[in-house]
Amino acid sequence: MTAPTVQINADLQFIKGVGPVRAQALSKLGINTVEDLLYYFPRRHLDRTTITPIRSLNSGDTATIVGKILACGEKPTRRRKLFQAILSDGSGQLKLVWFRGGDYMKRTLKIGDQLAVSGKIDFFNGFQMVHPEYDKLNADDDPLNSGKIIPLYPLTTGLKKVRLDQRPLRRILQSVLTGLSAIPDLFPPVLLQEYGLTSRDNAFRWIHYADSEDQLTAAIHRFKFEEHFFLQLLMALRRKAVKSEQTTPLPLAGELVKSVYASLPFPLTEAQKRVLSEIRHDLAQPTPMNRLLQGDVGSGKTVVAVFAAVIAAENGVQTAIMAPTEILARQHYHSIGGYLEKVNIPCALLVGKTASAERKKLLTALAEGRLPVVIGTHALIQEDIGFHRLGLAIIDEQHRFGVVQRGTLLSKGYHPHVLAMTATPIPRTLALSYHGDMDVSVIDEMPKNRQPVVTRVVLPEQLEKVYQFIRDEVDRGHQAMIVYPLVEESEKSDLAAAVKAQDILSRTVFKGYTVGLLHGRQKKDAKEAEMSAFAENRLSILIATTVIEVGIDVPNATVMLIEHADRFGLTQLHQLRGRVGRGQDKGYCILVKRNQTEIADQRLKIMEETTDGFAISDADLRLRGPGEFFGLKQSGFIRFKIADLVKDGPIIRQARQAAFELIKRDPHLRKQDHATLRNHFLHHYQQYLDYVRIS
Ligand code: ADP
Ligand code: MG
Repeated sequence: MTAPTVQINADLQFIKGVGPVRAQALSKLGINTVEDLLYYFPRRHLDRTTITPIRSLNSGDTATIVGKILACGEKPTRRRKLFQAILSDGSGQLKLVWFRGGDYMKRTLKIGDQLAVSGKIDFFNGFQMVHPEYDKLNADDDPLNSGKIIPLYPLTTGLKKVRLDQRPLRRILQSVLTGLSAIPDLFPPVLLQEYGLTSRDNAFRWIHYADSEDQLTAAIHRFKFEEHFFLQLLMALRRKAVKSEQTTPLPLAGELVKSVYASLPFPLTEAQKRVLSEIRHDLAQPTPMNRLLQGDVGSGKTVVAVFAAVIAAENGVQTAIMAPTEILARQHYHSIGGYLEKVNIPCALLVGKTASAERKKLLTALAEGRLPVVIGTHALIQEDIGFHRLGLAIIDEQHRFGVVQRGTLLSKGYHPHVLAMTATPIPRTLALSYHGDMDVSVIDEMPKNRQPVVTRVVLPEQLEKVYQFIRDEVDRGHQAMIVYPLVEESEKSDLAAAVKAQDILSRTVFKGYTVGLLHGRQKKDAKEAEMSAFAENRLSILIATTVIEVGIDVPNATVMLIEHADRFGLTQLHQLRGRVGRGQDKGYCILVKRNQTEIADQRLKIMEETTDGFAISDADLRLRGPGEFFGLKQSGFIRFKIADLVKDGPIIRQARQAAFELIKRDPHLRKQDHATLRNHFLHHYQQYLDYVRIS
């Protein structure tokens, strides 16, 4: 045996088989050291459980096959040349077909090559696969007969250009792994033992070279845990950072709070009361509140925010309320301002379009402390905005803001209390990862006067009947909204669809009715005018693009018709639906299905079956995955290599427990036992550390 020759932090270009050119290609992927390369995990593994023998294929299957090329070449047809290869795995033969890129394939594939191919099986004079995804393997790579487990790495064009495909990657990793002496662990031995994790040394070797499925499973488990652990460590540190700060306690809840309470046109629900007492308790502490208020659309979060702001005002500090859109900010200004006015607490609106003279006055009032409450959009975090004493920051729809924006708002006060609100009922596992640093309050009860919205999915040919239903509702004095989706590729088309619908519908099926139009491109005044006309029932029907999603609160509206409902996320549909049935009368939500796919059927059916926001968000997460879940790119959110927020529930809980315990015992990661972990964390999670300090 030769002595170990590779260091884990070595520069890759000096590793055998790499060299400067390949090192540069790898560097573009953020892979610079041996350790980075070890973390370049296979995208999947081939083994007996993931490969199908050709004889067991069925037309329509999506399958992976491993076999040898018996013959290949270009084949002229009447219309064009195509490239064809015949693959055999000993159990049968499969034709591979490429209609494009024949020249490249001719240079790439040779008779005798061992390939792994994946794709959909068609039947056309025998089984065939068109434009399969393929990877070249070693001649003796045959997981079906040898029981071997073969890693398949993600290959980019950059890697292919320097001929770093499966085999060279595996060769390099093999030589690295043999050259490395034992790879130091990040976790202390007690932690490995307590959570039943295999060592990092084993895990690296097995994820790249497993002899058995058990080894591979253990390796994957270990790395999933590791990724979740570091995210949870971040959460634990953020939480500790907030909780170790001093802030102004806000213990007073006196006359002002009482008069707002007395002025409410409804009794608070038990859930609202419970949440309010949690908030009051937090605000009275000398450490900042860091609380997330979750509650379904229409559960009454606004009034909770009002009480928090009133308490702040009563204690002589200012409140900033930040919302993600101008419409929502205006709506808050309208409703929150209404409550505050009754108790003479001044409140102002600040949005991007606020006129400069007005803005100047407002800024002065804020700086001098004459303005206790300001409500606005991102406009609130501009540099020239200063508060006299910002004591409470309320962030609505907090998942729409990045960590930096949130941090900027907070930095305008001296460790202000934070109340974040969200109507997106985030599934529990995702919640632990996404805002695991916060305390959570849930309004899990709807106001008593509410009846669940009746939801029906309809096909376009049923629309005549639906329009009749809308006319009937309007004749009874109610109002209706018709929503068109945002079409990703062209923002204009949803606008066009809405404009056109307003034009046509108002002249045909809704002739004689007042039909308004609301969309994102309208001038502020036009938007405002349209919104207040609808709010005051001067418009019976409002046609809108998705700008309507948040912010509209018109208790008299009873029907919501959503066009192209299949294009929306379930969570978004749920939010839209929450705009109706806010008053005494029954609400109806009609979803027009224009795209007939199985998944669309499945998803829209869920909307018919339940009005439970949590059930809906779980389904949405399951059907769309976490990336799509919020409908937005998660700025500042960690990208996982191997962890899966949807499937790793139990691992997430264990990793969280481990991370929080560790920080409890060693808040600054100073113990000798934690040195490797600390270095790894500081090195790899630097960009997420923001206001976290470990000294
Ligand atoms: P959301 O949680 O979606 O922000 P809102 O705060 O806008 O919900 O409340 C929705 C509607 O319910 C508003 O018209 C509000 O005045 C009303 N509301 C809030 N709390 C109650 C309650 N306890 N009883 C009756 N109506 C309520
Ligand atoms: Mg709200």
